[in-house]
Amino acid sequence: MNPLKSLEVGGRVPPQLQGLLRTIWPGTTWSVEGSDAVHLTFDDGPDPEVTLWVLDVLAKHSAKATFFVVGDQAAKHPEVLDAVLRAGHAVGGHTMRHEKGWCTETVTYVKSALESIDGLMPLFRPPYGRLTPAQARHIGVHADLIMWDVLSGDFALDVHKAREVSSAQARLQRRTKPGSVVVFHDSAKHAAGLKALLPDYLVWLSQSGVPMRALSPSPTRRLPEEA
Ligand SMILES: [Zn+2]
Repeated sequence: MNPLKSLEVGGRVPPQLQGLLRTIWPGTTWSVEGSDAVHLTFDDGPDPEVTLWVLDVLAKHSAKATFFVVGDQAAKHPEVLDAVLRAGHAVGGHTMRHEKGWCTETVTYVKSALESIDGLMPLFRPPYGRLTPAQARHIGVHADLIMWDVLSGDFALDVHKAREVSSAQARLQRRTKPGSVVVFHDSAKHAAGLKALLPDYLVWLSQSGVPMRALSPSPTRRLPEEA
C-alpha cells in the first residue's frame, strides 16, 4: 500500500498512518491529538477578495482558523493580512513564492520557509505538502510543520457539476473528526471551489456543535537544534 494514497483529494490520513509519516517527516502535525475542535486552515492567501470573504463567513459562525500565507502575497496585500490578524486568527507561513520542496535546494527552501513566518506565528505549511525530510528537520527547529488529515478538495472541484459538489461536501463531512486539520485555499485560483464548499460545511459544523479553533504553536513539538 502506498501511504501517500491517503493524501489524495478527499482522502483522510488515519491516525495509525500519521505516526509513520512523522517518522519520515520529523516534527509534522497531521491532526491535533486530544482536541475536541476542528482546525480549519486556509493556504495561498492573502487575497483582497477571497480572504475577506472567508473572514466574513468565519465571523458568522464565530469560528477561528489558521491562515498559511505566501510571503509575496502578504507583501502585496498587507491590509488583508492585518484584517486576518485583527479578527483573531492564527497566521503562519507557506514559503515566499509557493516553492515546491522536492524541487528546491534545501538551503533555499529553508530560507524561504523561515522568511515567510518572520513576524508571524512559528507555524509552517509546505506547499503541496511536499518537502524533504532534511528540509523538515531544519524548519522544524524553528516552527511547527502543519500538515493535514482532511483535504477539502476545493482546488479540484468542478463547481458546475452539482453532483460533484454535493459528494465533495458529503465526503468532507464524513472525514472530519475531532482534532482534524482541514485544508482550504483562500486564493483567486481556487475561489469557486472554496465558495461552493465552505458555507455549507460551516453550517454543518455549527449545527453539530463542533468548535472551530485556530492552531497554536506547540513548544514541545520543536525539534532539537542538533537534529
Ligand atoms: Zn499552497
